[in-house]
Amino acid sequence: MRRVSVFGATGSIGQNTLDLIRRAPSEYQVVALTGGRNIAKLAADARALKAELAVTAHDDLLDDLRKALAGSGVAVAAGQAAITEAAARPADWTMSAIIGAAGLAPGMEALKQGGTLALANKESLVTAGPLLMAAAAAHDARILPVDSEHSAIFQALVGEDLAAVERIIITASGGAFRDWPLEKLARATLAEASCHPNWDMGQRITIDSASMFNKALEVIETREFFGVAPDRIEVILHPESLVHALVGFRDGALMAHVGASDMRHAIGYALHWPERRDLPVARLDLAAIGTLNFRAPDPDRYPALRLARDVMRRGGLSGAVFNAAKERALDAFIAGEIGFQDMSAVVEDVLTAMSSDSGLIDGEITLDTVAHVDHLARIRADEAMQVRAV
Ligand code: NAD
Ligand code: MG
Repeated sequence: MRRVSVFGATGSIGQNTLDLIRRAPSEYQVVALTGGRNIAKLAADARALKAELAVTAHDDLLDDLRKALAGSGVAVAAGQAAITEAAARPADWTMSAIIGAAGLAPGMEALKQGGTLALANKESLVTAGPLLMAAAAAHDARILPVDSEHSAIFQALVGEDLAAVERIIITASGGAFRDWPLEKLARATLAEASCHPNWDMGQRITIDSASMFNKALEVIETREFFGVAPDRIEVILHPESLVHALVGFRDGALMAHVGASDMRHAIGYALHWPERRDLPVARLDLAAIGTLNFRAPDPDRYPALRLARDVMRRGGLSGAVFNAAKERALDAFIAGEIGFQDMSAVVEDVLTAMSSDSGLIDGEITLDTVAHVDHLARIRADEAMQVRAV
């Protein structure tokens, strides 16, 4: 039996992961499941899958979780530290699907145990890529990408020499507002930004798709995971979301990964790697689909893509600044405090203000320095937002 843990089990990626595990219960021993405020879901899954441990991120919900799991034999815990401790329980395979910077510490802890880390939490690579990759190497652990684009790149690279890679192209649906007139964007509402044309995902990443902050994070994720130079990474708008990424080689060949917009493909690939197994994803009828469209992303509509380039150029801890400012700006947009386009303006303000602080940005990348920079960037974002508050 493979020992598996799922961090962020109650979220969109977490639930898709549990769906695959549930289909072959005799193959897996579930070690730890973690969640946030949805105690009913966390407890029901922990009970059904006979998990060893269930952890909520919120201390105040420990009693609720304990009551919900009374008599089940599942151990319970609460708080951020408890989540990281849960990652120290030996597991062969760990899904990192907490959203945001909070996913970094548990992911690092899981890597120290030497198993496989299936990485959906792209923020880990954006904020601390070198730290994560070094931890994997030091502990003989493996990181497998779960983001659909990065799983696609990973699959296109099987048996290939990275030295022969000329470019990597990641596709973007363009999100909810890809066809809106630009002047309407300032008035975009939360409900409008929370509808994705193709993918069914958590609310935060759905809004990040509309702003392309998600793609901006993914460009940096590509750089950190595959080690390719920033000028070799391209983004192309592909409204159908069926081609997930393409790898271009020195002989001009492009290897594309094509499949349904269903995260269980990338999750299943990481779960069964290096094998391929049957997965419950739709098979594409290309004749029925007929046409696939591609176009260049409009830089005025998606300033986040330009900011990602700035971050890669600046390096060091600027990824942690970028991510934290983005998370704060997104919180504020969700709370109705700032407008849709203010998000990128706020992030740019914070990046510009903090990038010149070489003592901060060029320091060693550790969990502590990432947390420190993250904290400062959120304060800066709050200051920048006071100016823009609606
Ligand atoms: P989600 O919001 O649906 O779920 C997030 C999970 O993290 C929940 O279990 C929640 O309880 C937990 N969580 C939130 N804040 C936490 C905190 N501070 N501490 C501990 N746990 C916390 O998110 P999602 O859409 O499943 O995305 C998860 C990760 O996967 C993100 O990094 C996202 O970028 C990435 N990803 C998601 C998709 C997708 O299809 N949803 C696709 C590619 C990559
Ligand atoms: Mg993606």
